Amino acid sequence: MDNFERISAEIDNVPRRSILRLALVACAAFALFTATRPFAAAPEPRGVVYPTRVMGTYANVLIVTPDSAASAPVAAIAQRALARVDSLMSNWTQTSEVARINREASRTTVTVQPEVARVLEASLRLWKESQGAFDITVEPLVRAWGFIGGPHRVPSEAEIANAFRLVGAQRVQYDAARRTIHFTKDSVRIDLGGIAKGYAVDVAAESLAAHGIQNALVDLTGNMVAMGHPANAGAWRIGVRDPRDRVRFFARLPLEAGEAISTSGQYEQFVESKGKTYGHIIDPRTGKPAEGLLSVTLIGRSALDCDSWDTPLFVLGGRESRRVAAERTDLHAILVSPGDYGVDTVWVEESLRARFTLVPEARDLFQVIYF
Ligand code: AMP
Ligand code: MG
Repeated sequence: MDNFERISAEIDNVPRRSILRLALVACAAFALFTATRPFAAAPEPRGVVYPTRVMGTYANVLIVTPDSAASAPVAAIAQRALARVDSLMSNWTQTSEVARINREASRTTVTVQPEVARVLEASLRLWKESQGAFDITVEPLVRAWGFIGGPHRVPSEAEIANAFRLVGAQRVQYDAARRTIHFTKDSVRIDLGGIAKGYAVDVAAESLAAHGIQNALVDLTGNMVAMGHPANAGAWRIGVRDPRDRVRFFARLPLEAGEAISTSGQYEQFVESKGKTYGHIIDPRTGKPAEGLLSVTLIGRSALDCDSWDTPLFVLGGRESRRVAAERTDLHAILVSPGDYGVDTVWVEESLRARFTLVPEARDLFQVIYF
């Protein structure tokens, strides 16, 4: 006997008056149910966050869905995409492709896995376009300051000088047709940390789209791609972090569907010594942590584009970063430079004027200049 038959059989055994009462209660309950939830049959979509740990930090895959259980397997695919990029490009493990390249490319020519090749090609192009401000061979310097391998520390001048001798992407011989790499000097090492997060976020977003997801947000510590729109609004509204952490976000702005955003800042990783703060973005021209800006936020068409350029713009600093940002019409920049008396300057590109809003609690902390 199936369930339905068993229930009707039980009702059959109940005295008639009880059946009537039961029917009335059921009718009342149904009326109440339909009055309060007219579309109860189709649950409303809402933003569901699927968090994961990757690249030594947290990533959130947010999917707008009426059914969080049904979306979970797709979120897991996007999370695996993030983890795959990490396992290929990490400088923190000995097992990544980048670690293998770093071990072998000085003594032999190494064939590179296709995704690593894509990021390498983008990195070497960026080195040229940024006049050397972005340089993946900064690895020995990043390591000397403990930003790879840890702990964060201020190295001696001799250590900096030794590491500095290895820096210069002209020492990376890369053959795009064969997908091979060779370092022309011993002990040269590469670090894709300035660009790999953006690539990872793009790949994760692509995997969501490939599985039919239209509205989602992928966020890997400030490297984001916005797909479609959130559950109850026309656009994703993104907060830009205060590089000095006085308020959580100093500004908000909407992202259009398909846009990406990234922020590079000293505050992400730094070491303090004798009243000075040294950040994890190294100026490859001096060997020292870049000074001049507190943060660079870029809005563009892909997370790879944004993460690519946020690092060299940080290196280039004030006036030069504004010149390069203005030149690149595909990227929209928000640059924060330190100011006196606790008031920093936010340089906002004209192209963002209509959608940039300083939050009320940040009004005494920043002056805004459009460029
Ligand atoms: P991002 O947060 O995108 O600015 O990336 C910062 C990371 O890029 C650092 O933690 C380093 O691993 C790496 N890096 C630092 N300085 C440079 C540079 N001048 N060029 C390329 N990568 C860099
Ligand atoms: Mg970057």
